[in-house]
Amino acid sequence: MTDIIQLLPDHVANQIAAGEVVQRPASVVKELLENAIDAKATSVKLVIKDAGKTLVQVIDNGIGMSTTDARLSFERHATSKIRSAEDLFNIHTKGFRGEALASIAAIAHVELKTKTEDLEIGTQITIEGSEVTSQEAVVAPKGTTISVKNLFYNIPARRNFLKSNPVETRHIIDEFHRVALAHPQIEFIMLNNGAPVFNLPSSNIRQRIVNIFGAKTNEKLVPASEETDIVKVEGFVIKPQFAKKSRGEQFFFVNNRFIKSSYLHHAIFSAFEGLIKDGSHPGYFLFLEVDPKSIDINIHPTKTEIKFDDEHSIYAMLRASVKHCLGQFSIAPILDFKKDSELETPYEYDKKKPVAPTIEVDRNFNPFDRELKQGNISFPFKREASHSSTTDSWEAMYVGLKNKESQLDVASIEFESEEVTGSFFETDESKPSDFTFQLQNKYIISPIKSGMLVIHQNLAHQRVLYEDLLKNITVKEAISQQLLFPLKLQFSTLDIEIIKSIQEQLEHTGFGFSSFEKDEIEINGIPVSVRESEIKNVLAKLISDINNDLPDAGFSQNDILAKSLAKSLAIKTGTILTIEEQEHLIHQLFACKEPTVSPSNKPVLMTLDVSDIDKKFN
Ligand code: ADP
Ligand code: MG
Repeated sequence: MTDIIQLLPDHVANQIAAGEVVQRPASVVKELLENAIDAKATSVKLVIKDAGKTLVQVIDNGIGMSTTDARLSFERHATSKIRSAEDLFNIHTKGFRGEALASIAAIAHVELKTKTEDLEIGTQITIEGSEVTSQEAVVAPKGTTISVKNLFYNIPARRNFLKSNPVETRHIIDEFHRVALAHPQIEFIMLNNGAPVFNLPSSNIRQRIVNIFGAKTNEKLVPASEETDIVKVEGFVIKPQFAKKSRGEQFFFVNNRFIKSSYLHHAIFSAFEGLIKDGSHPGYFLFLEVDPKSIDINIHPTKTEIKFDDEHSIYAMLRASVKHCLGQFSIAPILDFKKDSELETPYEYDKKKPVAPTIEVDRNFNPFDRELKQGNISFPFKREASHSSTTDSWEAMYVGLKNKESQLDVASIEFESEEVTGSFFETDESKPSDFTFQLQNKYIISPIKSGMLVIHQNLAHQRVLYEDLLKNITVKEAISQQLLFPLKLQFSTLDIEIIKSIQEQLEHTGFGFSSFEKDEIEINGIPVSVRESEIKNVLAKLISDINNDLPDAGFSQNDILAKSLAKSLAIKTGTILTIEEQEHLIHQLFACKEPTVSPSNKPVLMTLDVSDIDKKFN
């Protein structure tokens, strides 16, 4: 048999590539706008006619091209943006595949006019179906104008496949929005059939959103901002009460590139859980910044999908930051801890001396002296419903510290949460917990300006532990108590596999594993907050939680782990807490990112307003 394989001519190869890159006029808009941005334009104008079917034109004031570059720009795999394969993992430009202009030129009539800063004269090239039909020197301002006419003129099937003008125009506007939102500092203008549609001056992101979506949007936005080593999140979410029935405004950018990711959308969606009605969609404009080396953009020709090295952490982080910003927004109007003494002190109650709680203190208490006190020394709360001995409980450390008489080196660990309470309790005087008390060993009651605060002690402590654990798992540091004699625990082979699969996360919470056998594990370190005798139960509970949550396990294992441990370790209902323990818990709670709900989404606290109480007396 004779040889039958042939290399395709360039224009055919380009047409095939165009099938991937150019689906509709909006794809041309996206590629041309992105090229203008890569060319460092500060002003970009988009002109369309007939929904882009007759004309898509982009005019920019960027760096322009030399004559040779102008010619080369239409070759396939011709790009100024990367040089080697390694560059693929360090992309700072929108484009890099060098195929957009070649593809577009294969399926349309294209005219390019361009001039660089330092050249006197510019270049004009016309090209049809990959054939250059003319090239001449022209007078032109600095920058580039590309006109794409009669898209799919040589592929009638594709042209017929295009939707009605309103639909195609909608697609174009969507692309325009995406690019314009990602680059608020650049001026964008859009004209449709000669009429101006958008005129967006250079601005900040909030103004850009408002300029695009209208003045009413401003009051709907809640800012989000969070930063860790692996990702920085900035932007806005739309207040839950403005969630729309249709998908609406959902914009997600990674390194200023609009990205579609149903996985990360889920992170945002789940942060809104319980806040919006079923069937409504959250709105958001979120900008993630990650190290370009930690993502792969080159997995899809249109570059709207990317692969993250560490998608799970980004998921967790994104969800946490959205929850955080929603939490701040919803808590702020309810809780007002600023004291207004006139309102609060009927019949001179304030002149009466409060009864000081009596606390017995062992001034020689040493938290590291595990021989003396059995049990869990660094843990701020006793977990039995007993109040007999004060020496091994947390208040001893607290008072000792205040009197500067104890030799506590770990003070910073125990009290770090108090430093961050600043945002809630701005001054010492405005602390809510001038006095607190426990109701039925279940709730902590604390007066606030508007009435009183009722805190569910178990759920509150779950929240505190949950955020701590999650932080340890993500930041990857935890304090561990080394066991003198390793603990051998029997589990089924399947259960051991589960523990193995989360070994790393468990180690970040303080667990240490010395060996894994078929049906036995050996533990040589445990988190400071857990007693040795509880370990088996804690792990068993964790395994069962992970099993029950299996469908989600792929992306929220850290979450399940933190939730499960927090639930196992939190002080239980029925536990008596001293005043200091109550106060400490309140402080820790309000140092949390999201103090109002428990890790399993139950309310942690409620406020009872004086006005509500007043009603009872009418
Ligand atoms: P890519 O953007 O992936 O590099 P394109 O086919 O979109 O590939 O563009 C090819 C090259 O043409 C670019 O790398 C750039 O050097 C040049 N170019 C395209 N558009 C412009 C423009 N508006 N201004 C200046 N240079 C441009
Ligand atoms: Mg490009």
